[in-house]
Formats: sequence, structure tokens, C-alpha cells
Amino acid sequence: MRVDIITIFPEYFGPLDLSLIGRARAAGLLDIAVHDLRTWTHDVHRTVDDTPYGGGPGMVMRPEPWGEALDALVPAPAVAAGGSDPDLAGAGEAASAGAGNAEPAGAGGAEPAGADGAGAAPARLVVPTPAGERFTQAMANRLAGERHLVFACGRYEGIDQRVLDHAATRMPVSEVSLGDYVLFGGEVAVLVMLEAITRLLPGVLGNAESLADESHAHGLLEAPGYTKPARWRGLDVPDVLRSGDHARIARWRRDQALLRTARRRPDLLARAVAELDDRDLAVLAGAGFRIEQPDMAK
Ligand code: SAM
Repeated sequence: MRVDIITIFPEYFGPLDLSLIGRARAAGLLDIAVHDLRTWTHDVHRTVDDTPYGGGPGMVMRPEPWGEALDALVPAPAVAAGGSDPDLAGAGEAASAGAGNAEPAGAGGAEPAGADGAGAAPARLVVPTPAGERFTQAMANRLAGERHLVFACGRYEGIDQRVLDHAATRMPVSEVSLGDYVLFGGEVAVLVMLEAITRLLPGVLGNAESLADESHAHGLLEAPGYTKPARWRGLDVPDVLRSGDHARIARWRRDQALLRTARRRPDLLARAVAELDDRDLAVLAGAGFRIEQPDMAK
């Protein structure tokens, strides 16, 4: 996967040299380039912001440097593609799939055409914003399937909307929020998204099985984990985990995942309800959680 990050604080991305992302980059599984937006300014102060039209506090990021940056990193495709993608978690897939027919310009193109040539997907522009669609594991899964992601890190009051509107005429654009709070800038949000996406790329995790049962993989939170010693500060590891009985351990973990999810994230459990079997429902009922299953006959 190729990743371009545009920011006025390239230093924020030092952590991308570390740990598993650093290793994935060294192994050639991930090609990340960080670009200083001010490279595409032309005044002596390297200005990237200005006062908002209509008045109000704060500054808005000017469109010109962003436009030039995106032109440089994602040259105009041979075939028009894209459109804004307000719903990457659902119907937005159509925009992504449709855009897959477009081929970025070859010579000088930022995106290598790849062996499959005409089938190469264009870049997807990802813009972190508190006004975007909420980032989830499902969205991370979909983004992990892209060949080229371009992240645009906003600062101040954000980026002039025309940058996104124009970009959407030639590539899919996703406005993504980390959650219902406001950060200083998009850099931290991009680091979070990249961690979630990178660990899903084939070959990045030593043991890909660790993805299978973790929180959010199947709509439930993961059961608690324990390691040695078996007794620590008077607290024992649950006996079942030391029993060697794999069926019982799996059942215990499933029960713990159900109960944890019911207590901490009833919203997740409500969405996973169609996947629950009678045994699951009995475990929840035994702990006082009454779950209504949808009537499939309706
Ligand atoms: N005026 C904007 C609003 O109210 O929607 C907030 C701008 S914020 C101070 C500056 C930048 O931080 C945004 O452009 C975005 O890149 C980033 N940001 C802030 N909160 C975020 C969140 N919850 N998720 C993703 N990015 C966020």
C-alpha cells in the first residue's frame, strides 16, 4: 500500500519509523511519504491559512497549496473517477468500486500502475475532521484494501471546503472523524487510522490469527487476557485458562466477551444480536441481560 500524508507538521510522523509500522515499511509492505504542505506555497511567509469568509473566529486553510499538493501527488487520472464518499462504512463502497475503473496517469504518476495496469485504483483522499463519518474497525478493513491513500491533515478551523469538492471530481474522498471531540489537528487522527489499517495488511502481524478474535472483529469486545505468573498479588488466573480444555476455554472466552460487551457497550451487543445463539442468550440472561432477538419470520 502506498500512503501520502500532507501536513504542516511533518515531525508529528516520527513514530511511523517505530515498531510494527516501521518494520512494515522496512519490509516494503507499506510505502509512506510525509509531505510538508508549505512546499506548495509561493510567498515569503509560506502562508497556508487566512481569515474565514463570513467572519468568525480562527483561520481556514487556503485552497491553493492543497490543490497543488494533490495535483502533484495524484496526477489527473486518464478516466474521470471519484465523487465524495460520505458513507465509507456502507454505501460508500459503491464510490470506491466505481472509481476502481479509473487509471491514474502513467508517466510521472504518483501511483504505479502495477502489473494489472488498467485495473489500478486511483488514490482515495482521507480527510480527518470531527464533522466526518466515525472511524471504525469496519472502515479500517475497507481502507486496508485500498492501494493508495492520501491523508490531508487539517489545522486551524479546517481546510477550505472547495479542496474536498474539487478533489471529489477525480478521486474518492472520505471525511473521517475519530470521535465526538475536537483535536488541534488531523495528524494524531492519521496516526491512529494508520495503526488500525496497517495491522490489517497481509504480512504485517507475525501471527495473523490475533486479528480473528480481537475486539470489534465480530461485533463483540474481546475477553480479558492473562499471562504468567498464575498468582500475582493474591489474584489468580481463572482456573479454566489453565485447564488445557480448549473447548471450555473457548466457551469461557465467548461468555466473557458477551458479558463485557453487554456491560460496557450495549450498543455493540444490540447490533450483534442476530449472531447470538441460544447458549449466548442464556449466558446473558443468567447475568441479568434480557436481549430481544429480531423476529426473522417478519
Ligand atoms: N472547526 C472544525 C469543526 O468544528 O469541525 C474543527 C477544526 S480542528 C480545531 C482542526 C483539525 O483537527 C481538523 O481540520 C481535523 O483535521 C482535526 N480534527 C479535530 N478533531 C478531529 C476528530 N474528532 N477527528 C478527526 N480529525 C479531527
